[in-house]
Amino acid sequence: MKLRKVTAAAAAAVVLSLTATACGGDNDKNDSGSGSGGGDKIKIGIKYDQPGLGLKEPDGSFSGFDVDVATYVAKELGYKPDQIEFVETKSADRENALARGDVKFIAATYSINDERKQKVDFAGPYLLAHQDLLVKADSDISQGTDLNGKKLCSVTGSTSAQNVKDTIAPKANLRQYGGYSECLAGLQSGAVDALTTDDSILAGFAAQDKYEGQFKLAGLKLSNENYGVGVKKGDKETADKINAALEKMVSDGAWQKAVDDNFGPASYKNEPAPKIGAIVK
Ligand code: GLU
Repeated sequence: MKLRKVTAAAAAAVVLSLTATACGGDNDKNDSGSGSGGGDKIKIGIKYDQPGLGLKEPDGSFSGFDVDVATYVAKELGYKPDQIEFVETKSADRENALARGDVKFIAATYSINDERKQKVDFAGPYLLAHQDLLVKADSDISQGTDLNGKKLCSVTGSTSAQNVKDTIAPKANLRQYGGYSECLAGLQSGAVDALTTDDSILAGFAAQDKYEGQFKLAGLKLSNENYGVGVKKGDKETADKINAALEKMVSDGAWQKAVDDNFGPASYKNEPAPKIGAIVK
């Protein structure tokens, strides 16, 4: 898998912050970012355990489609890569992280829906994914209804877990963990029969060398997941700037490059770039 390394940028960030401290400068403000760029840092929420979308590598660098979207958006807001501090925002933590001001924005497979819109605002959408199932290569589970009575894993605070309870398989024995990597360990050991979340995420897991030949996607489109960039409720200024950045990312070809770089290795067949504000129900 081709992974973009930002180690040099991270090293440069350390040097910059040391310089600021030594000079008694106040550039390295300990907040989520002013949005004005310049000498400030910006904190951005991503996932750390989703290969192809948001992944923290063993060497401390970050890779994935969401990382590339976040880096592009930050550039349009006036921040260079070495001014970005990525922060892990797990599925159940996202609304609180924005409300507390821990991060300026979140790009973390974050589906736009009405419930979340009560608590946060969204720019986008910038990707349309669909809920699907990941099962062992020899599994006979092929439909959502096959999950009733089966041990199914998903993540607390995700739309995937909610959809299972509401419609897909209310009688499934649903286990909810903090992150998808924990579900994957359960699938490998046989502790669970299936893992459900977005096909974009599942494709990234299935394509990892260490799982070669072990898992398959059912190929179902159990829901529409419109990924948005989350911002603090009421921060219209940032949301508007992010929408402009996302439009530019599509029109200048950077969106397609990020797709090819990050989804190509997993052979994930994504939907075309969505239009800003066009939510597929
Ligand atoms: N996109 C879905 C959601 O926002 C599932 C993936 C995730 O948990 O981030 O809940």
